Amino acid sequence: MTEQGPPQSTAPRELPRAADVVVVGAGLAGLACARQLARRGIDVVVLEAADAPGGRVRSDTVGGFVCDRGFQLLNPAYPEVRRVLDVGALRLQPFPAAVVVAGAQGRQVLADPRRSPGLLPLTARSLLREASGSWREQAAFARWALHAAREKPEGILSESDLPWGEALTRRGVDGALRQRVIEPFLAGVLGEDEGVSSHQFVQFLVRSFVRGTPSVPWRGMRAVPEQLAASLPGIHYGVRVESAEPGRVRSDAGEIQARAVVVATDPKGASALLGLPPVQTRGLTTYWHASPEPPTRSGALHVDGDRRGPVINTVVISNRAPSYSPDERALIATTVLGGSPDLATERAVTAQLALIYEQPTHWFELVRRDAIPDALTAMPAPLEIRKPVSLGEGMFVAGDHRDTASTQGALVSGRRTADAVLAELGLPAVPREPISAR
Ligand SMILES: Cc1cc2nc3c(=O)[nH]c(=O)nc-3n(C[C@H](O)[C@H](O)[C@H](O)COP(=O)(O)OP(=O)(O)OC[C@H]3O[C@@H](n4cnc5c(N)ncnc54)[C@H](O)[C@@H]3O)c2cc1C
Repeated sequence: MTEQGPPQSTAPRELPRAADVVVVGAGLAGLACARQLARRGIDVVVLEAADAPGGRVRSDTVGGFVCDRGFQLLNPAYPEVRRVLDVGALRLQPFPAAVVVAGAQGRQVLADPRRSPGLLPLTARSLLREASGSWREQAAFARWALHAAREKPEGILSESDLPWGEALTRRGVDGALRQRVIEPFLAGVLGEDEGVSSHQFVQFLVRSFVRGTPSVPWRGMRAVPEQLAASLPGIHYGVRVESAEPGRVRSDAGEIQARAVVVATDPKGASALLGLPPVQTRGLTTYWHASPEPPTRSGALHVDGDRRGPVINTVVISNRAPSYSPDERALIATTVLGGSPDLATERAVTAQLALIYEQPTHWFELVRRDAIPDALTAMPAPLEIRKPVSLGEGMFVAGDHRDTASTQGALVSGRRTADAVLAELGLPAVPREPISAR
């Protein structure tokens, strides 16, 4: 049974006949764009096909458990997150800066010693084991990660880009550490385990992991778009846009004339509405299981170093985010690659979880399965960020596919598009908010 979260800001389905700007889509990009325009006093109308804001960032309450639509984390180190969100109001529940690597030879813990000093002895012991790679590979990895963490974004972008698998091989990160830890870890963030995504993008991810502690809001990831939507009066939910052209938008609820039209849909929707080239996406499936007891006390992300099944990563989310469970039961989020799993995958997941947690899983109860075929926008090398957002004749496009496949990328694209719209309307850009220290 799926219950909805708190009521959304509902707007009458009857649409105005005209607006200064129509934004199609109330995902993070559309919301960020509309918010900037509203701050400038623009009459902006947002049309959203779904019944609530968020797009790929939503949550539902299922039998009392908070299940995000696919396991995901908010990194409060993202500069745009700290500019546009009141991060304090989200009551973030942080995850440890550590990964548990399960395998037939037992479990290893690899932690960032600065942020999880208590795990230092376990990390040191894990590094001494052969399964963590040779000293040569560990040193090469440390050099690579430090470079990514310290380099400025412009520096990363000035390097020539390669598929990340090739880039790591060239740097000598090519043994057990890579196969057992780095590949499964990155697979969950990139939606692929073939090493084909942009090395520049991977370095941006590493940079943000080192600088911030990925977390989930107390009320679930839905709290992020809901906070943005709360400041926007003109969102119309349940309205599907059928065509967008200079000066007007046609939807199943009527037509709106507009001086500017922003298409802030998912990448496939944008290609369909605007005739843009197709964008490759990657699927992810998350299984949410409840268990009377947590299979581990750890709140760290677990990966299977021996790749004994389809699981890419798994975490007892309620260990670090108690608000995700209504009672003493544990909630476990497990992710596999691909957005259309079959029953065999589901069985294989449960069997592999028993190996990873070294606990029987027959009392795990499946709360929900989120199969999302277009979860992540592919980021192939060479990376193309800051793609044009102005298409001419008052038509604009926003979305993570114009910047990077992340919360940060979606929010930045919304801001860039708002600036472009304001320029076209002959208005100055809204000054950037300072990056909040919280
Ligand atoms: C499972 C999963 C895990 C993720 N993990 C992370 C993570 O850990 N960290 C991270 O930074 N990012 C993560 N992401 C990526 C991040 O969520 C996205 O990059 C971001 O939310 C994209 O926002 P967007 O506004 O560009 O697009 P979307 O969220 O896709 O928003 C598009 C909106 O347009 C609406 N729409 C589409 N067509 C129409 C139409 N014709 N008419 C009206 N409305 C329409 C849709 O309903 C939707 O609301 C994850 C995503 C998923 C799914």
